[in-house]
Amino acid sequence: MKCLTILGATGTIGRNTLDVVARHPDRFTVHALTAHSDWERLAELCREHRPSVAVIGKGDAVAPLAARLREFGLTTEVRTGADSLAEVAAAPEVDAVMAAIVGAAGLLPTLAAARAGKRVLLANKEALVMSGALFMDAVHKHGAELVPIDSEHNAVFQCLPHPRPNGLAGAGIRRIVLTASGGPFRDAPVGTLDAVTPEQAVAHPNWVMGKKISVDSATMMNKGLEVIEACWLFDASPEQVEVVVHPQSIVHSMVEFADGSVLAQLGNPDMRTPIAHALAWPDRIDAGVARLDLTELARLDFRAPDHERFPCLQIAFDAQAAGGAAPAVLNAANEIAVGAFLARRIRFTDISRVIRTALDALASRSADGLDEILAVDRDARAAAEAAL
Ligand code: NAD
Ligand code: MG
Repeated sequence: MKCLTILGATGTIGRNTLDVVARHPDRFTVHALTAHSDWERLAELCREHRPSVAVIGKGDAVAPLAARLREFGLTTEVRTGADSLAEVAAAPEVDAVMAAIVGAAGLLPTLAAARAGKRVLLANKEALVMSGALFMDAVHKHGAELVPIDSEHNAVFQCLPHPRPNGLAGAGIRRIVLTASGGPFRDAPVGTLDAVTPEQAVAHPNWVMGKKISVDSATMMNKGLEVIEACWLFDASPEQVEVVVHPQSIVHSMVEFADGSVLAQLGNPDMRTPIAHALAWPDRIDAGVARLDLTELARLDFRAPDHERFPCLQIAFDAQAAGGAAPAVLNAANEIAVGAFLARRIRFTDISRVIRTALDALASRSADGLDEILAVDRDARAAAEAAL
């Protein structure tokens, strides 16, 4: 039996995780579920999965959540606050933590899981982008096991040999190739991007996801964050990571070896596949995902990314190459810019401008310790707000 904490249980990844977990009551139990504000959905998830603890972010939701759980006849303990998130991530009875809070808010509990030596199922790419070196140090120092949930990185993880004591080069690996769908505006005339609405931007052609990552996919900043994520997860330089646009989202990513071999992982675009893989690894379990029918697909297309249309991608490559505070600044400014776009305060094409302005002001700072990283995050949010 593996005991789980699911951070961000009410989100798209959280609910997909619980769907897989429910298929395997003989393998998994749930210690804690957490959510930011949607206490009613959290209560329903508690009814089904009977965790020991439920953590709700908004203080005024504690009482109604507790009352609802009593109505359901549950003894689940209700907690709130950032410390509670870190506690349920590090609890001694927990074996694995699904890190599926969106954005920088996920950093501290995800780090707590790593420091407690858990298996960390990492969906929250923003945490790793902000704190790459610090986070990977914590993983190594405390013997945590990091298994990526992001479909691309999970695909790469599946194609790589484990372990790799002499790094990528030592294992004969030349490049990591991340695939990108290109999002909803892949083929839209560049001149029309100024006028796109939040509704159009969150309507992803292949994946059902939270709003923030959906906008990131539309700007391709999602792929930019994933380039940085890949560098940290697999100890790669930005030059070793390539992005290729693949509209069908069937090949989830690839690894190219020195002998010319290219290994790919394929599957239907359904996050339950990487979630089930990461939950059970090295075993394989049913994920409830439809079988891939290659004859029905008929074709798979690939093309180079269009950097004029998607300036955020190159900004992210450059931020990772620059190092220091640049990735943390990029992440914070992007969160502010995406929030402002969703609130109709700026245009879609302003997102890259806001991020550049924050990077110009702050990227040269250092961001080694946790306090420095959190200070950079705060200052970058202020710089981005000022640039809206
Ligand atoms: P979502 O918006 O659907 O869910 C976010 C979850 O985080 C919710 O449970 C919410 O309650 C919680 N949350 C939000 N703000 C919080 C805060 N301040 N404090 C505590 N909890 C908070 O997002 P999602 O699509 O499930 O994505 C979650 C993470 O997984 C993101 O980092 C995203 O980049 C990553 N990811 C998602 C997908 C996908 O297919 N959805 C794929 C790859 C990676
Ligand atoms: Mg992804």
